[in-house]
This record gives sequence, C-alpha cells and structure tokens, in this order.
Amino acid sequence: MSQTTASYGTPAADQDLGPLNVERRAPGVDDVAIQIEYCGVCHSDLHFARNDWGNSLYPAVPGHEIVGRITATGDAVDGFKEGDMVAVGCMVDSCRDCGHCDQGLQQYCEKGATMTYGSRDRRHDNSLTFGGYSQSIVVDQRYVLRLPEGLDPAGAAPLLCAGITTYSPLKQWNIGPGMTVGVIGLGGLGHMGVKFASAMGAKVVMITSSPEKGEDAKKLGADDVLISSDRDAMKAQREQFDFLLDTIPVGHSLHPYLGLLKLDGTIVIVGAIEPMEGFHSGFLLGRRRRISASAIGGIPETQEMLDFCGEHNITSEIEVIKMQDINHAYERMQRSDVKYRFVIDMASMNEPSA
Ligand code: NAP
Ligand code: ZN
Ligand code: ZN
Repeated sequence: MSQTTASYGTPAADQDLGPLNVERRAPGVDDVAIQIEYCGVCHSDLHFARNDWGNSLYPAVPGHEIVGRITATGDAVDGFKEGDMVAVGCMVDSCRDCGHCDQGLQQYCEKGATMTYGSRDRRHDNSLTFGGYSQSIVVDQRYVLRLPEGLDPAGAAPLLCAGITTYSPLKQWNIGPGMTVGVIGLGGLGHMGVKFASAMGAKVVMITSSPEKGEDAKKLGADDVLISSDRDAMKAQREQFDFLLDTIPVGHSLHPYLGLLKLDGTIVIVGAIEPMEGFHSGFLLGRRRRISASAIGGIPETQEMLDFCGEHNITSEIEVIKMQDINHAYERMQRSDVKYRFVIDMASMNEPSA
C-alpha cells in the first residue's frame, strides 16, 4: 500500500511552496525507505518550481540533495540495512541497460534518467516523482549512496548535487597540481568547485561578480580572487587559466571568460541550462580553446565523490533553515544572497506552520 507523506511543494509555477501531501509507493523488493533528515536547496529547485525551463510538471516537490536514515528495506536489498545513514541525489532510476548506464553514467542514460523530482516513474506506475522536501522517500537501492562515517549529515546533503556536479568535470579534465582553475560564481556549486579543485592540488581563482565574497573565497581554499566586473583585472589575467568551471545560473556571454584561457584551455558550463549568448569563434580558434558542459555525475562517481569527501573531510558551507522558510530562501538565492547553501532541517516539518 502506498503511503501518504507530508511534503512541501507547489501546484503551479506562479505560486509559493506550501504543505502538500504526496503518495510514496510501499517499498518493493529492491527498495529502501528513507526518513529524510536534511535536504539541500539547489538553484535547480527554484528553476523547476517556477518552470524556468518550460518543462516542469505539477504538483512539484523539489529537492535532490537528500540525506536520511533507512527505516525499511525490501527482501532483495543487500547493500543497506535499517538504521543506515544514506543519501539520494538527482536520479532515482534509469533504463539500466543502455551503453551509458552500463558505464555507470546514468545521468546520460540513452532513454533518459528518471530524475528525483519532476519525472515520470516509468518502472512503476508512471506517476510523478517527488523530491526531498518531504518526510520520507522510497528509492531503488541501485540509486542510493552510502554516507561516509564522520561527515556532518547536514553539511553533506549539498554534496549530492552541488558536490557531484563540480567534482565530475574536475575529474573528467584531470585537474591536479600545476594547473590553474577558475571557478565562476560563488554559490552552492561554485563554493564546492573551489573546495574540490583546491583539494585536488590545483591553483584556484574565484571569479565572482560579488566583491564582498572575496575573503570567504580564500577561506574556502581559493588562492586568488578575480572580480568579473573589473575590466583591468580581467585583462591582467588573460591566458592564465587551464580550466574554467562556469556556474552562473542564467544564460550569459562567454566572451569575458574565453580570453582567460590558455592554449587548449577548456571552459565547462555547469550553471546555465538554457540558451546562451552567441560567441565569436575567433576566441576559440585563436588559442584552440574548448567549450563544454557537464551534467551532475553517475552513481559510481557520486559514491567516489562522497568517499573523497569522507577522506578529505569536505562538506558544504551551509545555512540550516526550517521547511516553512523555503520561500524566503528562494528569494535570497535569486539575489545571490546565500552562504553558500541552504539546507532544510526536515524535523521542522513536524512543527506547526508559521
Ligand atoms: P546559486 O547558489 O544561486 O549560485 C550561483 C552563483 O552565480 C551566485 O551566487 C553568483 O555568484 C553567480 N551569479 C548569479 N547570477 C549571476 C549573473 N546574472 N551573472 C553572473 N553571475 C551570477 O546557484 P547553484 O545552486 O550553485 O546553481 C547554479 C546553476 O547550476 C543553476 O542554474 C542550476 O540549475 C545549475 N545546476 C546544474 C547542474 C548540472 O548538472 N549541470 C546541477 C546542479 C545545478 P557571485 O556572487 O560569486 O557572482
Ligand atoms: Zn541541483
Ligand atoms: Zn540507460
């Protein structure tokens, strides 16, 4: 029997989030049921709730940075047991037999991954998937991650999206000692990008539109700070970078950034998932520069990233909020006023609404 689960969401793009009940399936043989303790607030949640990408399905219950404790397991579950602290990220299923799924790249599933929220659950009953702004969730064990011991569970929640989305391209492009990496935008993704690139041994420069964030960037591990509106400073940094990680959440011109790249340097877009402004190919051909983009990370790499965080004691810088404060948090995130990730304490769901 399905279970009615208290959640937070919105019935339409132009409405605030509020209390909403959703149905969760009863755990099947391969499933684990998780009582959610913390859920990070990703800028994608806001894009999705407001239908910024034009493909949202309602009611929408966002949240894909989920940490919680297992309360029940199906008979075939072998990797997890009741009481384990686990995590769920952006995907809860995929086709499981295409070439990309076989390589553990479920985010690039040829038939499309089933996202944690806003997807049709084709393996079960085609119902809408609902995310982590919720008391509990039921997920197939193949898409559940182990949380390393010793990591603060609230600080670890944002690793499930902001963490893997920045870790994956840094690994893909073999970032390490001797390289200079620029991280553009100091928000949820950007601050994790700074931490990872620094832990991987690169020289890291934070490229920000907010001069007041400079000091923080250095505390997070940046060796230097570049203010993107300072034309002279940007000019002085021409051809200094091997790699740029672009986390700006809206479409923008790449021109100010392409000139920062050395010969064969690459800029990877992870922020804007929408049309970008055109660019002059001269910026690329003049130095054989490359533009790429990257989506989250596969399940094995997400586990690798969590284990890396366990070893290096890396978590996110967070501001813990109550579920009832989510609309205010969205407003602040829209203004780039977040240091550096909101995380919802799900125990607040039991408190009466303000
Ligand atoms: P966030 O916390 O709001 O941070 C974005 C940062 O970008 C801001 O703090 C700000 O940093 C900078 N910024 C914002 N607006 C800007 C503008 N108009 N021009 C220049 N800089 C601007 O957002 P987030 O959670 O990190 O998410 C960033 C984006 O990544 C979102 O669009 C989200 O949908 C996307 N995303 C993609 C993936 C993927 O798989 N590729 C995964 C997760 C999220 P400064 O103040 O330092 O300039
Ligand atoms: Zn996200
Ligand atoms: Zn697949």
